[in-house]
Amino acid sequence: MVLIDTHAHLEEIKDLDEALSKARSVEVVAVITMGSDYRSSLWAIRNCGEHVSGLRVYPALGVHPWSAGSLNTEEMNALLELMHENVENFVAVGEVGLDYWYKEVRRDPGKRGAQKAIFKEMLRVAVEYGKPVSVHSRGAWRDCLNIVAESGVESAIFHWFSGSLEVLKEIIDRGYLISATPAAAYSREHRLAIESTPLENIVLETDSPVTYRGETAEPAHVTRTLRAVAQIKGLDEASVEDRTTKNARNIFRI
Ligand SMILES: [Zn+2]
Repeated sequence: MVLIDTHAHLEEIKDLDEALSKARSVEVVAVITMGSDYRSSLWAIRNCGEHVSGLRVYPALGVHPWSAGSLNTEEMNALLELMHENVENFVAVGEVGLDYWYKEVRRDPGKRGAQKAIFKEMLRVAVEYGKPVSVHSRGAWRDCLNIVAESGVESAIFHWFSGSLEVLKEIIDRGYLISATPAAAYSREHRLAIESTPLENIVLETDSPVTYRGETAEPAHVTRTLRAVAQIKGLDEASVEDRTTKNARNIFRI
């Protein structure tokens, strides 16, 4: 039995070796680390590979919607070059998307434009290189889905999906996936989404080192995600682990 944490921000974890050793001890064999801007994407490329014996880190490259407002042209060009040079190495475009609940965007909805422009550019790259995307869609679920569908991207994971069932149905119909996080233990919206999604369309993650109910997440906590999904689905953990790990291997081709 093996687990894959499909979405983490490893560059933000304080004692990474310790966290990855702990993850390995609970059967985690792979972690996909997300890029949020040029700097963290570069970190992802430089730090991919086998960290502790039997656990590999795979890089995803992208611009998080929270970084969209501050990314300058130079950084964008550097990121595009990084993607071009490492086309064989990176496994996904992410974390990309829209966040209409982000404080700057709530204050000034005009800032949605910058998020959309960068998101579309990242999706263009995903199509060009045939990569899956990890999509952040908080408060912007419908627009995210429409933009992804229009872009022609074939494989997408709507990360930590907590939007409406109407959008979710379309995500599933289009063959896209959602990811479950440790919030599956308590978030009503997230639990409902997991309940309403076939296991074939779910992967597991932690979004480390985000804070869940006062506790900082680490990749080992993907076991908590597993436990919550098994409980929601009324299935044993082994079958959820088996299926979701297969889904992750398929979409990231790892
Ligand atoms: Zn994230």
